[in-house]
Amino acid sequence: MIPAVMPTYARWDVVVDRGEGCYLYATDGRKYLDFTSGIAVTSLGHCHPHLIGAVTEQAKKLWHVSNLFQIPGQQRLAERLVANSFADTVFFNNSGAEAVELAIKVARKYQSNAGHPERWRVIACHGSFHGRSFATLAAAGAEAYLKGFGPPMEGFDHVAFNNLNEMRAAVTSESAAILVEPVQGEGGVRAPSAGYLRGLRNICDEFGLMLVYDEVQSGMGRTGRLFAHQWEGVAPDIMAVAKALGNGFPIGACLATEKAAAGMTPGTHGSTFGGNPLAVAAGNAVLDVMTEPGFFDHANRIAKVLWAKLEVFAGRYPHLFQELRGSGHLLGLRCQPSLTAGDFVAKLRTEGLLCLTAGDNVLRILPPLIVGEAELDEAMATLDKVARQWPA
Ligand SMILES: *Cc1c(COP(=O)(O)O)cnc(C)c1O
Repeated sequence: MIPAVMPTYARWDVVVDRGEGCYLYATDGRKYLDFTSGIAVTSLGHCHPHLIGAVTEQAKKLWHVSNLFQIPGQQRLAERLVANSFADTVFFNNSGAEAVELAIKVARKYQSNAGHPERWRVIACHGSFHGRSFATLAAAGAEAYLKGFGPPMEGFDHVAFNNLNEMRAAVTSESAAILVEPVQGEGGVRAPSAGYLRGLRNICDEFGLMLVYDEVQSGMGRTGRLFAHQWEGVAPDIMAVAKALGNGFPIGACLATEKAAAGMTPGTHGSTFGGNPLAVAAGNAVLDVMTEPGFFDHANRIAKVLWAKLEVFAGRYPHLFQELRGSGHLLGLRCQPSLTAGDFVAKLRTEGLLCLTAGDNVLRILPPLIVGEAELDEAMATLDKVARQWPA
């Protein structure tokens, strides 16, 4: 008999009762060090006091009004995102897929508004992940996720990630935009070579395309800057964010320049819940913490320590791990073909450390940005214990 909850997930046998900081406490009394962060969502840890305060206060006043009303918290969050990014304007929605979906709409609308309605195709990369809606599934083009759901939505071309020659060669007179994750997450935790984003920018400028970043996973501090592309200083025209924007309260956003969003006039897009008072209270509280002086200094210092520790670890077990990759607190250990990343992750879990997998047989490590050295030491001890006992 089918379970009441549609069985689309391979769930772990863990029931979490409560969370605090970097830790989760299960109903059976077990304590877990959480290096999954709700899949790059709870970047400020669980039950951050400032977030509890902000959301509780808002919950007592007003949860929801429609976007027919002026919403001061939404205005404030948009202004703060604009002040801290390339963007001039922001649309709020409820998830990453919706944010990417809108990013694609904005790119197409820009071209149509600029007199090029024939330019509607988007070039995206193999190994990417953009969400589970029809458009975002087609954008990523992963067969496994598309299978059985009918013909994939038209309008997406695919090239190898981190390959500028292929990207340039894929541009046609119908191309509207290039869509990339500045660091690929789900697909296998891949950071591109230095100069890749600059190269994409140049291609877009040369051919009149919109550069669209999907920073749903890499953004909101995950790599040690508010947005991963800021390390290279190469701005997009349009960008999707979500995941850590509400630290677990569902909220996503599509950011754009004034030029890119010129066609997004009243009536062109909407969302019932998007940017409601409760959601933007969470978003504003996250920004309060992340924009505090020193916040990213700590995160970046810890990220360096973690990278060094994981590099030593991987080097100690070359029969298990091939490569450490990623950026900041978005890290992956590519496993040797003889080791299935999921098996290792399952064993870590029984030892109290929660990690994830990613495509390409990668063990994905996503600690909260507030993690400290003591938790790193604990995680490394568990990784070492499991690796040491792993059958050769
Ligand atoms: C998680 C993710 C999405 C989809 O976000 P949802 O909130 O699950 O819809 C899109 N793009 C990237 C890069 C992601 O990591």
